Amino acid sequence: MIKIGLTGGIGSGKSTACEIFASLGIPVFHADLEARRVQNSDSLIKSQIIELLGANAYNQEGLMDRKLVASRIFSDKLLLTQMNQIVHPAVRKSFKGWVLQNQNAPYVVYEAAILFESNSVADFDQVILVVADQDIRIKRVVARDHVEEEQVKMRIENQMLDREKIKLADYIIDNNEVELLYPQILKIDKSIRENGKIR
Ligand code: ATP
Repeated sequence: MIKIGLTGGIGSGKSTACEIFASLGIPVFHADLEARRVQNSDSLIKSQIIELLGANAYNQEGLMDRKLVASRIFSDKLLLTQMNQIVHPAVRKSFKGWVLQNQNAPYVVYEAAILFESNSVADFDQVILVVADQDIRIKRVVARDHVEEEQVKMRIENQMLDREKIKLADYIIDNNEVELLYPQILKIDKSIRENGKIR
């Protein structure tokens, strides 16, 4: 199975790009959604998070208080690393099982905000990076999530810079303008189908 990683900074347009891959019949695994699922429903993961961040990391319904957790981990690099060390292996395990269920697809896409940062590149045959200018990304996330600019900037500071990620990616999608997205993805889809594993 050809496994394609798709990444990009916050608000770069990963989900929007993935919707187009899905419309082409490509199964897409959303690592950040799966992370949320395990954080809320995997009892071992929950207990490890409580050990790391304290009982108030979860509300009375047993759901992770994402706002509180984000404010803690995105202002403390060690906590962020430890949190990723808890959640990442569980997500990878889910992905492996999911791949087995999608054996008939020409290839699959794994969407994750951090891929280079979590040293996961070796798990994929090719990696696609979605980029957009920082001010555009901030405006899009503020409009989408109704959050303060500062919160978006804090997330950006914890992610690798695009100019570093560009050197490591096999394909770059420029998502500064919406009409550019579809033709770029069609071209990449064709190339993946033709070239398959290039590493
Ligand atoms: P996150 O890292 O927060 O998960 P993301 O990289 O998945 O974000 P999207 O959710 O796809 O980014 O895009 C962020 C917002 O910008 C969304 O509201 C989306 O509809 C919008 N958007 C994405 N691409 C474009 C574009 N080319 N033109 C205008 N708006 C866009």
